[in-house]
This record gives sequence, structure tokens and C-alpha cells, in this order.
Amino acid sequence: MDTRCVHCGSQIKVLFIQYSPGNIRLMTCEHCKAVADEYIECEILIIFIDMILHKPDAYRHLLYNMVREETVNLKGLFWKSALFYLLLDVCILEILDGILVQTLWSLLTSPCIVYNP
Ligand SMILES: [Zn+2]
Repeated sequence: MDTRCVHCGSQIKVLFIQYSPGNIRLMTCEHCKAVADEYIECEILIIFIDMILHKPDAYRHLLYNMVREETVNLKGLFWKSALFYLLLDVCILEILDGILVQTLWSLLTSPCIVYNP
């Protein structure tokens, strides 16, 4: 997976050059001439807030430049997501089953109203 510019989506070879620890230079995109990914310097909370605000740049940063096979164990993430999905599915079934049992019980125990004109 290549890194991409968060503004136009074109591929970038490197997002920054590190001269010394804490001293980096962000690269500009050759296509749109803007800084390719300024979210590199941002805290994760800023990225999260921009994602809540539905900024496409934040999503591009997360999908193209942050989540990579080298940095994230995709296989482990897949299995954890699958287990979490199954757990949520069981919870939904338990809730629906409880609602169904409660509804049937209230129907069975409610007094029968007979219409007699
Ligand atoms: Zn660009």
C-alpha cells in the first residue's frame, strides 16, 4: 500500500523527511501543491474530532496513511472484529428474545376482552 495525499488522493512516495528526532519536514503533493498529510503531526484526538466532523482528509489519513500492513496486524484485527461482531449479535438476539418473551407473556396474561354487541 502506498501513501497518499489526503487532499487529492494521489500517491506520494514519502510523506515526510526526518532530519533528527522531532525534526521533520512534511512533503508537498506534486499534484495539488498542498502539504500531503498534515495529520502526521496531529494528536489522535484531533483526527478523531475531524472524523466526527466528516472531513474527508481525516478519513484518507486514517485509511491510506495510518492503517497499513506494516503498522497494524490486519489478521489479528480481523479476528478481534469478528469476535466482537459475534458478541454484539448474541446481545441483540438476547435482547430480542427477552422482548419477544415479554410480549408473549403479556399477551397470555392479559384479560381477554370479548366484544358482545
Ligand atoms: Zn494532493
